[in-house]
Amino acid sequence: MREKVLGLKREKNALILAHNYQVPEVQDVADFVGDSLGLSMEAAKTDARLIVFAGVYFMAETAAILNPGKRVVIPDPNAGCSLVDSISPGDIARWRARHPNGVVVAYINTSAAVKAHSDYVCTSANCLKIVEALPRDVPVLFVPDKYLGLYIKHRTGRENMDVWEGECYVHAELTAPKIMDAIRRHPDAELLVHPECGCGTACLLELPKLGVEPRFMSTEGMVRYVKVSLKPRFIVATETGIIYRMEREAPGKEFIPVSQEAICRYMKLITLEKVYLSLLREEYRVTVPTHIAERARRAIERMFEYT
Ligand code: SF4
Repeated sequence: MREKVLGLKREKNALILAHNYQVPEVQDVADFVGDSLGLSMEAAKTDARLIVFAGVYFMAETAAILNPGKRVVIPDPNAGCSLVDSISPGDIARWRARHPNGVVVAYINTSAAVKAHSDYVCTSANCLKIVEALPRDVPVLFVPDKYLGLYIKHRTGRENMDVWEGECYVHAELTAPKIMDAIRRHPDAELLVHPECGCGTACLLELPKLGVEPRFMSTEGMVRYVKVSLKPRFIVATETGIIYRMEREAPGKEFIPVSQEAICRYMKLITLEKVYLSLLREEYRVTVPTHIAERARRAIERMFEYT
């Protein structure tokens, strides 16, 4: 199957993008494996005719917005996201009615329609930079991840920031007790935490009191860090799919997931066979209506200014 996928990819001048949480065999056929920000950047600069997006739907939508002339397909259109489902454009319009001069910062895990209603799109890699750059006297709404939002609110010390109550169902389960348990079992390991995690302020405030300094990072930041760190062992608080990439890019080091059950059922809907069928049939096509795409693109392009 792997050879068939690679042969067809060449024949069709296609690009396969795979998110860090994809299964190993899908990561292995991808031209680029990365987080939401990295994949968006690759999508923006490709000259491939066909983009197969091995990730969840909102990511393929972002690729389609950035490549209006290209055919963007997703191997399974049911690959959704619990964060995306937590907010609608109407929710943002209601907040704006109360805060006419407010600024809306939307995490990239949002639908194209929500992005179109937002001022900035961000990822976990640059959300702090974006919020820090906003004038202090302007009210901010951060959507939709509450743990990431509260983390930014704490780091920036910003009082006039509303945080939407959405959560990623996978990261919400990575709670403080689970992280404490992993630290007790592996006291010599360094702790890497994705800011979507449910441990939230407990990790931020309580762990340093115990002499543990967690590193809050995007998945891409984690991969970069484990390659250069002198530590041999890491506790990883995010979806377990990232560990395959860490093992490949930082061989000889040990990666311990906080929970073996941190597996995103949406990401895992994509299989190698579905990638093949997607390439073969050039489906399922992901399109975004022009009036939504144009507004969403503005907010996404502002995100690139902070990379
Ligand atoms: S891991 Fe969470 S945020 Fe990522 S796609 Fe799955 S549900 Fe959405």
